Amino acid sequence: MKTSSKGGLVYSTENGRMCPECSRALAQCVCKTIARTRAAGDGVARVSRETKGRGGKSVTLVKGLVLDPVALASLGKQLRTACGSGGTVKDGVIEVQGDHCERVIEALKKADHQAKRAGG
Ligand SMILES: [Zn+2]
Repeated sequence: MKTSSKGGLVYSTENGRMCPECSRALAQCVCKTIARTRAAGDGVARVSRETKGRGGKSVTLVKGLVLDPVALASLGKQLRTACGSGGTVKDGVIEVQGDHCERVIEALKKADHQAKRAGG
């Protein structure tokens, strides 16, 4: 067993420096992505219900969010959990199976996002 009393400590540099903005390691900083995408949208989530062709199944769509793909995927998971439903995230759109507009808007607001109902 190594029992060095001093100089034996190895400080973890695993995470390196942290970004003060997003609290992630600089290597995983998402601020630039967010800044870039923010210019493209106003950051207000549009929640709409759409009916998919086959069998007329309802899905709840969340569009207009300006998040990096990782954050979007994790938010999508959060929304699916809130609705107890399945779904996907693709092309920047969160899809939750079923008609859950109100729950989705509620969950978005809880997660500090602006959200409003759009379309049908
Ligand atoms: Zn950052």
